[in-house]
Amino acid sequence: MSESPASLPGSATAYPPFLGFDNQSPPDPQLIDTCVHCGFCLATCPSYRVIGKETDSPRGRIYLMDGVNTAQIPLSPATVQHFDSCLGCLACVTTCPSGVAYDQLIAATRPQVERNHKRPLGEQLLRTLIFTTFPYPQRLRALLAPLWLYQKTGLQTLWRRSPLAKLLPKSLGAMEKMLPPIPAQAWQDQFPTVIPAQGEKRFRVGFILGCVQRIFLPEVNAATVRVLTANGCEVVIPPSQGCCAALSHHQGQEAQAQALARQMIDTFALWDLDAVIINASGCGHTLKEYGQLLAEDPDYATPAKAFASKVKDVQEFLANVGLTAPLHPLQEESLTLVYQDACHMIHGQKISLQPRQLLRKIPGVILREPIDAALCCGSAGVYNIFQPDVAAELGRQKVKNLAQTKAEVIVSANVGCTLQIRQYLPEQGHTTPVYHPMQLLDWSIRQEHIPEN
Ligand code: SF4
Ligand code: SF4
Repeated sequence: MSESPASLPGSATAYPPFLGFDNQSPPDPQLIDTCVHCGFCLATCPSYRVIGKETDSPRGRIYLMDGVNTAQIPLSPATVQHFDSCLGCLACVTTCPSGVAYDQLIAATRPQVERNHKRPLGEQLLRTLIFTTFPYPQRLRALLAPLWLYQKTGLQTLWRRSPLAKLLPKSLGAMEKMLPPIPAQAWQDQFPTVIPAQGEKRFRVGFILGCVQRIFLPEVNAATVRVLTANGCEVVIPPSQGCCAALSHHQGQEAQAQALARQMIDTFALWDLDAVIINASGCGHTLKEYGQLLAEDPDYATPAKAFASKVKDVQEFLANVGLTAPLHPLQEESLTLVYQDACHMIHGQKISLQPRQLLRKIPGVILREPIDAALCCGSAGVYNIFQPDVAAELGRQKVKNLAQTKAEVIVSANVGCTLQIRQYLPEQGHTTPVYHPMQLLDWSIRQEHIPEN
C-alpha cells in the first residue's frame, strides 16, 4: 500500500511520539501490499463472525496496520482494540487465496502496541499479574494454596451464587470462571529427568511440560510420557525447563518471549535428542517459531533454528514414526469421538490428519466431525481473559457444534481449548468428558476402559 513512516525522511519530527508505530520492525508494507482486499478471509474469521465489523476482520486490520504505518491512522485506543480483538487463530492465513502472511503482520503489530500504546491502569495491572505469574510454574504454584482453599472450603460455590460476583470486572470474572479444579499432582512435577523406553529403544526424545498444563492438567503429561515410552522412546525431561514463551509471544511481550525461548534452548542444549516433543498446540507453534523469534540475536539465531527444527507435536511425531505398542478397545461397545482442532494445530502447524489417524487406530473408535471444525473456540491463550465477551460467544458456539455430533467423548490436544470447552459444556446441559488424545492412547495401550462419566 505505502511506505512505512519510519523510512520517510523527517518522519521522526513529522509525527508526534506514540501516534503510530516505531521503527523497530513495524508490519512490513510489502506484506501488507499482498492483500488484494478480496474478503475471502472474512467468513472464517471468528472475531468478525462475532463482532461483525470490518475493522475486526483480517482485511480491516491490515488496512489499520497500513494506516498506522503511514501515519494516516493513529494508534489510538480504538485502533488498538481492533488489534486486541484478533484471536491470533490464523484461520485467515489458511483461507487467504493470495497467501497474505497475516501471522507475520499481527506478530509485528503486537509488540508495537505494547511499546507505543499506554493501556488503562486496570488493564496494565491485569497484564502485569498474568505475565509475571502464568509463564513461571513455581510462581503459579505459589498461588495454588489459596486457590485450593477457595475451592475446597466451598467459598467458590458461595461466591459464584453471590450477586457480588457480577460486580467483578469482566476479565477477573472470566479468570475465576475458568479456574479448573486443582489436581493433587499440581504441586510439583512428578517425573525423573530420564525415563527409559519400554522394550527396544527406538528414539531419544525431550519432553516439554508446559506451564499451565503441568499444573492444571498433569494427567495429560503423565499419559504422554507413558505413550512415548510404550512406543520405544526414552524420554528426557530436564527439570530446569520453563515456559515455551507462547503466552508472551502471542501478546507482544517480545523481550519476555525471547528470554524464555533462550532459557528453553539452553535447557535442552545439553542433551542429544532425536526430537523435542510437545503436547499442547499453542506451545508447539511458538516452539517451532524460535528461529524467527531470535533471528536478530547473534548468539541464539542459529541454535534457535536448530532447536525449532527438532520440535514435534506428539501426534505428528507418533503418526510419523508409527505406533508399536498394541492398542485395545476403550469400552465393550464402539466409542464415538469428536476431535477439536486447536487453531495453532490446524492453522499454525497444519496438523489435522495425524491426530485423526492415531485415534482411528484405537479399536472400536468412530470419529465424528463437527461443523465449523476450523473455527476458534475462543480460548486463544489468555484471549478469554482479555476479551471475555467474544471468547464466551465463541466458546458457546464451539460447544454447540461439538455437542451436535452426539459423540461420547470430545478430544482436544490443547490445554486452553480443553478448559474453555469444559467451562461451556455445563451451560448447555452437557457432561461430555474432554480428554487429550494421549490419554485415550494411554488407556488403550494399558488395556484400561475409558473412565465412567
Ligand atoms: S487477507 Fe487474503 S483473503 Fe483476506 S482480504 Fe486480503 S487477500 Fe483477501
Ligand atoms: S488471526 Fe483469526 S481472529 Fe485474527 S484476523 Fe485472522 S482469522 Fe481473524
